[in-house]
Amino acid sequence: MSVRKIHAAGKSSSRLDGRVAIVTASTEGIGFAIARRLGLDGATVMVSSRKQQNVDKAVEKLKEDNINVAGMVCHVGKEEDRKQLIQETMNKFGKLDILVSNAAVNPIFDVPIVEVTEKAWDKVFDVNVKASFLLAKEAYPHLKKSNNGAIVFVSSVAGFSPRPGSGPYGISKTALFGLTRALSVELGVENIRVNCLAPGLIKTHFSSTIWTNEAAIKSDAERLLSIKRIGQPEECAGIVSLLCSDDASYITGEIILVTGGVAARL
Ligand code: NAP
Repeated sequence: MSVRKIHAAGKSSSRLDGRVAIVTASTEGIGFAIARRLGLDGATVMVSSRKQQNVDKAVEKLKEDNINVAGMVCHVGKEEDRKQLIQETMNKFGKLDILVSNAAVNPIFDVPIVEVTEKAWDKVFDVNVKASFLLAKEAYPHLKKSNNGAIVFVSSVAGFSPRPGSGPYGISKTALFGLTRALSVELGVENIRVNCLAPGLIKTHFSSTIWTNEAAIKSDAERLLSIKRIGQPEECAGIVSLLCSDDASYITGEIILVTGGVAARL
């Protein structure tokens, strides 16, 4: 839909009508909220994660919202799973316009960076960075055909300000800023826009070790946050829908922070 038509329609609920979107790691948390919002804004959505029962539950919930949705297992670290995710989306929906690469791991807590093992480092980079790149590469020919493609990488404020004890996670999220920039400068000519979401502390299972620690939350809120509360997954979702839509037709290579006002810079 053209920019003019969206404005003429005067509503945002159809801004992704006719688009097909893949969201990885989308059976709960931020990924689920993004999948739901893209669906509510008109996109057909393929959800995925590692466990079939989680996929089934997410699909069921999204169908209750009348979202056109399918789901399948995809561990983003597995080449075969990534290929099947793209192929199955093409088989089911015939095209691909939007890729939201949201999966990440953070298995390293309270480990001084100089004590991180090569194995732990590789795991973080394989899932958070390499899989994001390879998925984008796999999606590329289809996004090119779309002639209106959008990629969003879900990074983190930790890419700007790493938490002590989780160094490699922060570094992997900084790498996604670089991946966003590198892809955006090459893919703009194919009408594929590439942007990045950098959430702050958002209430999900992933961040539960932080937000269940009341002292840590209080200290974060006092020192870092302008909006003195933890964020909710839904507060990350609307901006991703916007970035994937024609309302963002001249936005590429950007990193959008959703942090409640954390000051962040490299
Ligand atoms: P979450 O609520 O814990 O959800 C994780 C989702 O990822 C689940 O659907 C899980 O389902 C799936 N998953 C886990 N490993 C996967 C893998 N290897 N391949 C495919 N799916 C996988 O996590 P979240 O907080 O929403 O995090 C989502 C993204 O936001 C991550 O990139 C994270 O770095 C980023 N982020 C989060 C926060 C925060 O405060 N929450 C802040 C900044 C950035 P299965 O178990 O079925 O696989």
